[in-house]
Amino acid sequence: MSHILLFGGSFNPVHNGHLRLAVEALEQFRFDQVWMLPSGTPPHRRAYTQDPQQRLTMLHMACQCHPQLAVCDFEIGTGKTNYTVDTIHQLRGLWPQHQFSFLTGMDVVYDYSWKGFDQILAQLEHFLVASRPGYSFEKLLDKLAGTPNMERIQWLEVPLHEVSSSMIRERLSQGRSIHFWVPEAVRVYAEEQGIYRHRGPIVESV
Ligand code: ATP
Repeated sequence: MSHILLFGGSFNPVHNGHLRLAVEALEQFRFDQVWMLPSGTPPHRRAYTQDPQQRLTMLHMACQCHPQLAVCDFEIGTGKTNYTVDTIHQLRGLWPQHQFSFLTGMDVVYDYSWKGFDQILAQLEHFLVASRPGYSFEKLLDKLAGTPNMERIQWLEVPLHEVSSSMIRERLSQGRSIHFWVPEAVRVYAEEQGIYRHRGPIVESV
């Protein structure tokens, strides 16, 4: 049996903060692999999300940097909203020999309500919540007090890595450098493909 950590996100695009987080989790909890799980249409973010195929390509490039990182394209190709509770259920059905845990950032757990959160916990070994500036784990536990299987929620303290996908998108739209915020192959691909370029400021004609 392998112990797999599912790491859900938009990865729009993937950046070094995501990758560092995955590696911290691998080291601290001794998972066999992290499966990066890019969302299709995230339930909490219906706004603009980059073409799934390009997000996927960049994620594959990023995962080649570490032997225990892999991409799970289970949600991204569906073209519909996926709920974590259903995804985990289906993945467990497909890989009954694996034990699954799930990783997400504190902002995502704290700010959004999750469909079937108690059923999510029931299916997992650990539900890892990564620290984000401005959020406290104690407050999260208060908010979730009384939820069955609470002990499966674990805190993952990660060194601050000040980068976000929105920052990368913003920089690319302005034609600015993204060196060292993303793996080099991702940078080259994003720049060559002109990804996020079209989101630049709109200049009104006079
Ligand atoms: P955006 O800027 O578009 O909101 P994002 O950078 O937060 O995107 P997501 O794909 O939405 O990226 O994030 C996936 C997960 O990674 C979330 O749980 C988020 O909390 C976490 N995460 C994102 N950036 C970092 C970072 N720099 N350090 C630690 N965790 C991060």
